[in-house]
Amino acid sequence: MAQLPPDATAANRLGFDYALEANRLGPPKAGIIDVHTHLRDPDAVAVFAQAAEQFGVQEVWSMSPLEQLNDIRSVLGDKVQFIAQPNFRSDDLLDAMGEGYLRRIQEFHQAGARLVKFWAAPRAIDLAEDAGQRDLMDLDGPLRQAQMQLACELGMGIMTHVGDPDTWFQTVYADRDRYGTKEDHYAPLERSLERYPTPWIAAHMGGWPERLDLLDGLLERHSNLHLDTSATKWMVRELSRHPTPVLTEFLTRWKGRILFGSDIVVQGDHLRADSEETGRAIQATNREEAFELYASRYFALRSLFESDYVGESPIADPDLNRIDPQRYGPMDAPMLKGHQLPAELLETIYRNAAADWRDKVDAFSSIQASS
Ligand SMILES: [Zn+2]
Repeated sequence: MAQLPPDATAANRLGFDYALEANRLGPPKAGIIDVHTHLRDPDAVAVFAQAAEQFGVQEVWSMSPLEQLNDIRSVLGDKVQFIAQPNFRSDDLLDAMGEGYLRRIQEFHQAGARLVKFWAAPRAIDLAEDAGQRDLMDLDGPLRQAQMQLACELGMGIMTHVGDPDTWFQTVYADRDRYGTKEDHYAPLERSLERYPTPWIAAHMGGWPERLDLLDGLLERHSNLHLDTSATKWMVRELSRHPTPVLTEFLTRWKGRILFGSDIVVQGDHLRADSEETGRAIQATNREEAFELYASRYFALRSLFESDYVGESPIADPDLNRIDPQRYGPMDAPMLKGHQLPAELLETIYRNAAADWRDKVDAFSSIQASS
């Protein structure tokens, strides 16, 4: 591993000047639409807006708290679209994930949202059990099915998070009786894709960037399925590993069905040194660090797709340490290999696929309205 500078942080372990790196990359082949972000708190969103602008991101789709949509719009104007999400911070998770989410989907729809998120990572099993209803967040469960039905009736698309990195199934989800195998999580997804034929986005390369062959199968079987490239550390680690011709061929085969996403999380406590985050590493404590945190994601993803960068990722990846604590420390990082994708493919991933996706939702919604 590289010798790190003394002021190395998890988002900038190599001491880059991300504003300079943005200039070096130059404008992207097409103004980027980032279809997967989590923006909250307008003061932090203003810092994010600088990073987005420098890296050529012209529009973002965000899972934001319903209560903050207007505040966030006041910073980003028409550059932000919202994705309906449940109130994860509710004291009453049973309601927030159940009846409460039905109401919230309607409210998001009224506020212009075209997409509904259903988070079904394996950890949802733990949350659901704590809330006292084991099938609370199952994609196949009665609550989720009613919510998907509503999304279709409202002419909205669906975004899901199924699976998690293979590294997590080897570690945090090693208890097979409890979490099942990674494969087990895909049967409910496939049934739901059949049942609700609205356009879907399965986040984080469908949860399986490690296995392009399995993604081929999913995309072949479900013409309404799309993937986003979000979760930067995971994508950098796994997509760098594929030989360039293999990844290029995959992305070309599914051109128009892979959308750019970052999964950048933006929140006010990134700006404060006194933030008391429970159980999570503090990612940033002032504006400068917050800028680096957000910029690092766009730098890494753009470098992965369009540059000839070959070297350690500037972002620490704690999964390496999780898998092999003898070999890796928490500040270590995997190789980032730039794949120099062809210009036309970049244009589609960065922008056109998201623009077309919107047309597909419009087409679906007009079929719904006339039936
Ligand atoms: Zn996300």
